[in-house]
Amino acid sequence: MENQQNDKIGEWLRERIPSKIYNLWFNTIRLESIKDKEITLTVANLFIKDWLIKKYDTLFKKMVEDIFGTGHIYKLEIQGISPESSTTKKSRKKLIKKRPLLLCEFNKEFTFDTFVVGKSNELAYKASIEVSKFPGEKYNPLFIFGGVGLGKTHLMHAIGQKALQFNPDLKVLYTTSERFMNDMISAIRSDNIMVFRDKYRKVDVLLVDDVQFLIGKSGIQKEFFHTFNDLFNLRKQIVITSDRLPHELDDFQERLTSRFEMGLMVGIKPPEPEIRYTIMKSLVAKEKVDIPDGILQEIMMKADQNVRRLKGIITRLIAFNSLTGQEITVGNCLSIISSILPDDNKGDPKTHLRVKTEYIKRIVAEEFGIKLKDMLDRKRKIALARQVAMYIMGNSNIPVKEIAMSFSRVRSTVIYSLSKVEKMLNDGNNPALASKIKEIEKHLEKKESKVEA
Ligand code: ADP
Ligand code: MG
Repeated sequence: MENQQNDKIGEWLRERIPSKIYNLWFNTIRLESIKDKEITLTVANLFIKDWLIKKYDTLFKKMVEDIFGTGHIYKLEIQGISPESSTTKKSRKKLIKKRPLLLCEFNKEFTFDTFVVGKSNELAYKASIEVSKFPGEKYNPLFIFGGVGLGKTHLMHAIGQKALQFNPDLKVLYTTSERFMNDMISAIRSDNIMVFRDKYRKVDVLLVDDVQFLIGKSGIQKEFFHTFNDLFNLRKQIVITSDRLPHELDDFQERLTSRFEMGLMVGIKPPEPEIRYTIMKSLVAKEKVDIPDGILQEIMMKADQNVRRLKGIITRLIAFNSLTGQEITVGNCLSIISSILPDDNKGDPKTHLRVKTEYIKRIVAEEFGIKLKDMLDRKRKIALARQVAMYIMGNSNIPVKEIAMSFSRVRSTVIYSLSKVEKMLNDGNNPALASKIKEIEKHLEKKESKVEA
């Protein structure tokens, strides 16, 4: 009887669904039981179950009505897993030993308390908290994506530590996808692949950082896919971070990226100025140093949005202050930033340019004996200093657009200034100016080579 109905279900679905999709999602459906008016169907795993409910709920409702008559409802379960399995809350509670089994080290500084929240990261923050409260139950997998230095690793460590606080009995493992790969390779070499699998597939919460590292590594992706499936089917929590969205992971197996997309995807955007300011404030407070607010604001506007770099700047300012005993002023702070940024700043040429233009402005102002802020004035008196600064910037390959922006002038003004200084140098009547410019350029060259060394 049930076999017959099983066939009917298959037939009914096949008539309505393209065969490719049927084979992918529907071919493991079995009729498990009919009780009163409840039809229990089973499928191979949790992933398929969730997918079918999400995408085909209406279709299923229609099917049970057509085949079994109105008033029937359906329920989807997973084959071979009874509802009373060990992951249910009741049995889990009995096992609680209140003694965290640490599978990895966590960075004590990376907690939810030390994470500064704003619009740019609010969703990721909230989802991370939910996941640590309800691992495996709410957002699975949680996929956090965003650029470098925006707090992804920080959140991963925070999730791990918080989850253990809520339930010390959980097995929580943080790893990077690179470490996952290295572990796998050394397991294969030493013929220990089962130990490797045990390590990754017997956890309650698996946190895999920087999954983009697996681009182009299809063997590792395959192993990761199986790890993912095993954990997912047992309703274990998986959190993944990446510097890009799943569909932007080139060369990734589609079965893997479609699983990443299955749960919740949240992005972290570059932090808005307020977050940058608060992060600096809290660092400064922690170190108990005195950096005036004006300077923090200056840094907030000048430094770029990578929080790691921002922290680097503050750390070095603090070090500068305690090593030299010198007060931190806007002037020395700018030169510290500019001396830090070039090598700290790979991949962000824009900020580098901005800092460089600031630096040139500053030494030209010094050389001409005027205040830095006067460089922006329209007074004729300082026109030459400004034109010289523009000229030196042009000579250092700073684009005209950037120069114009840094002086809040239009491009034609910059071009005019460049040719004017050029002419003055060429007509031989301004030896003092020529040597001044040479002097400044020499100074700049020395500084650049020091930074590169
Ligand atoms: P990612 O993994 O995204 O490259 P990290 O998590 O390593 O970035 O963050 C870089 C640094 O910036 C870390 O020291 C981290 O603590 C800090 N950081 C990033 N975002 C925040 C934030 N919102 N609040 C406090 N610190 C942050
Ligand atoms: Mg990271």
